[in-house]
Amino acid sequence: MILDGKNVASKILTQVKDRVDSLNIKPHLVVILVGDNSASKIYVNNKKLAAEKIGIKSSIIEFPETISEETLLKKINELNNNPEVTGILVQLPLPNHIDKNKVVMTISPKKDVDGFTPENVGRLAIGLKPYYYPATPQGILMLLDEYKIPVEGANAVIIGRSNIVGKPMAQMFINRNATVTICHSYTKNLEDKIKTADIVVSAVGKKIVRCKMVNNNSVIIDVGIFKDVNGKLTGDVDFNLVEPTVKYISPVPGGVGPMTIASLMYNASIIYS
Ligand code: NAP
Repeated sequence: MILDGKNVASKILTQVKDRVDSLNIKPHLVVILVGDNSASKIYVNNKKLAAEKIGIKSSIIEFPETISEETLLKKINELNNNPEVTGILVQLPLPNHIDKNKVVMTISPKKDVDGFTPENVGRLAIGLKPYYYPATPQGILMLLDEYKIPVEGANAVIIGRSNIVGKPMAQMFINRNATVTICHSYTKNLEDKIKTADIVVSAVGKKIVRCKMVNNNSVIIDVGIFKDVNGKLTGDVDFNLVEPTVKYISPVPGGVGPMTIASLMYNASIIYS
């Protein structure tokens, strides 16, 4: 069965819009974009459009590639102290002369709609509710919940250990009482690990999950998104061969991508005073 992220995301966005419509104060998401990265520009514009569609005010602040770290941090502090701004997102990657961690650590945890600040990551790690959960893993859980796929007690295998997907996904699964295995480029016998999993989340960025690795009861969540040799968008999973074998699978595109946007918009609609 295909996990239709596009359809579930659209339902969630309708619910978020209703919530935003009922608020006295309108959320205001500020997205900071540094430099000329064309992919980043597309992502930022997509986020702005998604926000505006559901009544969230959204502004993009653009800085040239040459901006100093000090100026960027000053701007973030200004936004932190501006009560009219309810969410701040700094589009990554940043130029090499800017310390990404310093930038993330400057964002107020109560405006950190990406859920990347140490306070939000730490709260998640010790089992406290963060102000915001990272969008992609939160979107994946929303998708699993919509299809009533049990997480409690499941053997979950995550491929990839990034701070934005793999690690927070592991933490969120643990908090939902799954048994988690995290795999990465040093993992031995990846195939054996995937074969025994109830849920597989693949966040690698290259074709890695093949038909022989999965079982009839697997739930396969494909986070990866990249262009194949023909320039077509594809995911980590060999979809055509894996799909007939497994129980559930998310497609690329139309799976985790739209869920990430919906989940981010859900975050952007939350206001802390
Ligand atoms: P990332 O920082 O690109 O890291 C990739 C991860 O894959 C690393 O942990 C790496 O291991 C692991 N890896 C590489 N080769 C491997 C192998 N042969 N076997 C097992 N693990 C391997 O991760 P990311 O930022 O999470 O992105 C991953 C993919 O998801 C990308 O295609 C990205 O575009 C996509 N993505 C999609 C969404 C969405 O909304 N759809 C959101 C975020 C990311 P090491 O740590 O050992 O290097």
